[in-house]
Amino acid sequence: MSFNNQQKLLIATHNAGKIREYRTLLAELPFEVVSLAELGITLDVDETGVTFAENARLKAQAYAALAHMWTWADDSGLEVDALDGRPGVYSARFAGAKASDAANNAKLIAELHQLAQQGNEAPSRRARFRCVVALAAPDGQIYTCEDSVEGEIVDEPRGDHGFGYDPHFYLPTMGCTMAQLPAETKNTISHRGKAARQAEKLLRTLVAG
Ligand code: IMP
Repeated sequence: MSFNNQQKLLIATHNAGKIREYRTLLAELPFEVVSLAELGITLDVDETGVTFAENARLKAQAYAALAHMWTWADDSGLEVDALDGRPGVYSARFAGAKASDAANNAKLIAELHQLAQQGNEAPSRRARFRCVVALAAPDGQIYTCEDSVEGEIVDEPRGDHGFGYDPHFYLPTMGCTMAQLPAETKNTISHRGKAARQAEKLLRTLVAG
């Protein structure tokens, strides 16, 4: 399957920040990038999957079926080793439906403290952000690209860039938290940036036929 120059690519997210990031990233590709808002699509697909890949696929397929065009969707979150991979696909709603970033972060740190009190050893602080980008064709064909970034959870928040768990996600290789990195730097090392570059390469291959 290949693209022609008139083809459109739908970025299937209601998050304006993500749309902006993806528009920049995909600017060189020979097709028009459109958003859900531009197509008047208000549907919010339920993230009922138990893996990031399932949720990304669910969203990409559902919106592709509505829009009849190639569709790009992603799902991402934080996995903490001491919490057996939680909050995982529940990262956005860790402290409850529509929880704030502050509430999710407070629950994360509280759970790690609870574990420390229960055990003889300090719990591992190892964690990773994961992201899966799913590309769906209008005919249902689907491709996924996945990447991650390793780090450690720190009790004290640091930095005010980014969002979500960034202030508590320390990057040993950078010597700072994710929230201390400017957006462009985060993009070069982040789970989302890396998965998106893979997906962009895949699209280029498809364009080339
Ligand atoms: P979604 O992929 O936009 O659904 O993100 C799921 C949730 O995972 C977010 O609400 C955040 O809590 C968390 N998350 C995903 N990516 C990041 C990131 O880059 N930094 C901090 N938190 C993130």
